[in-house]
Amino acid sequence: MNDIQALMNKHIRTLTPYSTARDDFKGKAEVLLDANESWFGGSGVNRYPDPRCTELRKKIEDVMSIPFSMSAITNGSDEAIDLLMRIFCAPGDRIVIERPTYGAYRVFADLNNLSVVDVPLKDDYTLDVDKIGAVISGMQPKIIFICSPNNPTGQLYSFESVKAIADMNSGITVIDEAYIDFSGKEGMWRYIYENPRVVVLRTLSKAWALAGARIGIIIASEEIHEAVMKAKPPYNVSELSQRAALSMLDRRDEIESVKEDIIKERKDLSEYFSTLPFISEVFPSDSNFILIRTGDADRLYDYLASKSIIVRNRTSEPLLSGCLRITIGNREENKRLKEALDGYAV
Ligand code: PMP
Repeated sequence: MNDIQALMNKHIRTLTPYSTARDDFKGKAEVLLDANESWFGGSGVNRYPDPRCTELRKKIEDVMSIPFSMSAITNGSDEAIDLLMRIFCAPGDRIVIERPTYGAYRVFADLNNLSVVDVPLKDDYTLDVDKIGAVISGMQPKIIFICSPNNPTGQLYSFESVKAIADMNSGITVIDEAYIDFSGKEGMWRYIYENPRVVVLRTLSKAWALAGARIGIIIASEEIHEAVMKAKPPYNVSELSQRAALSMLDRRDEIESVKEDIIKERKDLSEYFSTLPFISEVFPSDSNFILIRTGDADRLYDYLASKSIIVRNRTSEPLLSGCLRITIGNREENKRLKEALDGYAV
């Protein structure tokens, strides 16, 4: 047993995974009578999907440069968060998250009966490396989740700060890069070669415009990859989703141009928000959304809703009083948002 395997739950290490019909027979055959599927092809999806998403992972290697051997596909990155907790944590174990951050880490931790230690970000919403360091030495968490760029604050954390935490942590450090494509940075997956306790999460839900298809990507060292393949439900990614992802990854140029558009609109909207007297703070963003602070977030939220514009009200979250999170829409949507805000009477 090596160091990474030692971090896993014993029952995961020794688990004999379900062997699908597709695993048992991998060659080409003309008559498939092994998986109790229907022979009626009217739906186009009468056969089970590839449990290993082989073609999709090859395409991801081509288009996103993520090595085939290091990627595993999940039913959205939300499934990845849950799987990693189940692989590395037992009920009662501790995980560390930041505050504020993506809400699902806590929900999945609660579902898995884990104990959550949340460490506040600094006032400028950067990572408090010293505080997290103290938590690491005091309570040896099984997993630390770092969301970079962070949802809902929007900022990418510095490579040095994330690296410092991952190196101090003798458990697993999960870097959730759902929004990395909007940051102009490559992300941290190459760092896994140096520190194999790091896992990077990506998703095709944001920049790749496939939220409805539910395609998450776990990038991890060989041992973790193996454990994920064992622990995930056999057919976790549907045939329709795999096909949708394959065809979207072929549209890289369009996606690139939409992304450039979003980044340009982000700058434009940030500048516009800064001119509004009722918006006291516009936080810098490396994502496809902007966090703003206003005097009365509920009132502004209700006003926008009355104009048929829905944003995300974060005012009741710790450290986010008065904050709304606003996704960058297309030009027409952003124009409607501006027109509505122009008419807001303070
Ligand atoms: N991580 C972060 C930081 C997110 O904001 C989200 C979605 N809002 C997810 C993960 C989940 O994404 P997916 O659609 O891939 O499940």
